[in-house]
Amino acid sequence: MSRAAIVTGGSRGIGRGIVLALAGAGYDVVVNYASNADAAREVGKQVEAAGQRAHLVQADISSAADRKRLVDETVGAFGRIDLLVNNAGVAPNVRADLLDAGEESFDRLININLKGPYFLTQLVARRMIEQAETVTNPKIVTISSISAYTASLNRGDYCVAKAGLAMATQLFAARLAEHGINVYEIRPGIIETDMTGAVKEKYDNLIFNEGITPIRRWGQPEDVGKAVVAVATDLLPFSTGQVIDVDGGFHLR
Ligand code: NDP
Repeated sequence: MSRAAIVTGGSRGIGRGIVLALAGAGYDVVVNYASNADAAREVGKQVEAAGQRAHLVQADISSAADRKRLVDETVGAFGRIDLLVNNAGVAPNVRADLLDAGEESFDRLININLKGPYFLTQLVARRMIEQAETVTNPKIVTISSISAYTASLNRGDYCVAKAGLAMATQLFAARLAEHGINVYEIRPGIIETDMTGAVKEKYDNLIFNEGITPIRRWGQPEDVGKAVVAVATDLLPFSTGQVIDVDGGFHLR
């Protein structure tokens, strides 16, 4: 029987890259999405073309009821959870200086980028503990960001949410180690997706002219997918709470 993964925000961008990499590595995948059903269906078809099972679940990760349904549907479809990838996330709709930024954007960013993955991890971890006799070495991965440690003064809400997610990863790694559940934080740099498309020219300049990413290219969703596969296929069994940079050397600046 194949292992089973949940990838939140699996319909587009980095999440899509993770889903396809996991399917290539022999995982059945629950492709979660917020509203883009067509994109999710397309990803699901590609999972099936790779010989694995796909199950699509619309669920808003910031809703407690939706998170519970996501877990219940995963267990209903595949009977097990070997891997949770907390990928779903949003950028602020408007970038605002730290002294002007409003609470509405802050609440949105915290609810989707931090509270959602925090409580989904809690829910899935409980399930992983319950299934311990039949499913060994399950794992949880959070997709944080270089913004977890880089102060961007015009999107403080995003930075604070990602820094919180990084700490949540440490906390769950420490708590779940005794249950044989390894937890990892993958920290992408600048990756070419819809999220960064809005500021493409700015990033082109930073990457190619200013060398902000020492490996002078855009990161691709597949780059993050490969890092997830590395931990999902047991290559780091004695490492937990590990931060894996997938940033083309951004952190070296
Ligand atoms: P995209 O905007 O390209 O894709 C976002 C994905 O998240 C979509 O699948 C979307 O679903 C889903 N999503 C959004 N809100 C929710 C929600 N409330 N509930 C469930 N799913 C939701 O983003 P990226 O692929 O660029 O980013 C993915 C993750 O990687 C995010 O956490 C982001 O912060 C992080 N990241 C991105 C970087 C980058 O350079 N792109 C760099 C570092 C980190 P739908 O298709 O239905 O809208």
